[in-house]
Amino acid sequence: MSDLQNIQFSQSSIDTYDTCRLKFKKIYIDNIKWSNDNQNFGSEFHLLAQRYYIGINEELEQGREDYILFNNLKKFLKREENMYPEYNIRYKDTQMSLIAKVDLIRIEKEKITVYDWKTSKSKFDKSKIEKSYQTKIYLHNIAEKFDVSPNNISLIYYNPRFDNYIKIDYNATDHKYNKIELKDKIVSIINEKKFNQKIGKHCSFCQFNSICNQEFISVDCL
Ligand code: SF4
Repeated sequence: MSDLQNIQFSQSSIDTYDTCRLKFKKIYIDNIKWSNDNQNFGSEFHLLAQRYYIGINEELEQGREDYILFNNLKKFLKREENMYPEYNIRYKDTQMSLIAKVDLIRIEKEKITVYDWKTSKSKFDKSKIEKSYQTKIYLHNIAEKFDVSPNNISLIYYNPRFDNYIKIDYNATDHKYNKIELKDKIVSIINEKKFNQKIGKHCSFCQFNSICNQEFISVDCL
């Protein structure tokens, strides 16, 4: 069993813990993982975006869903030299270790903007996104890693399906409270003793559904 103190927490692992502690234990402590062979639309789109921002122009078939969404993305944010796709931003202190895996970071003089691509078929819920661990970890780690004022850090979520985005700005006060909240959360996970299962609708999207509920597992879960 892995030592919880050594886990590098991500938005995904914390969200998993909040959804079901047993699922968190199986994936992040017992290390039960499947290979990432299954490529859904979202991961294929992220790959297209990554290639575009490193300078590879992919030829796509006109009229297809990926063509339309990819064109929207290119119109929304043209490639520039100061952009770095699939960028990992790590933070570690004596109490917590965090990783933010960002889709794209744009580094300008004294200003940082991070972009996250969402291909979901539902529209943004700004208040939910603002409170998400993804937003908190991304903004926290950027403020810690780069020598810029938190006031000059922004996070933009873009959905090419609706050609729509939301922008979240940061500041020093948010950073202070963010750090406290993240530390409290990580410490509570590290001190967790019982990783009980939590049965619910979310089980339909869990790779352990056949074990807990003897139900069919969708390949999209793997
Ligand atoms: S199937 Fe449900 S209860 Fe079992 S690990 Fe997954 S989320 Fe938890």
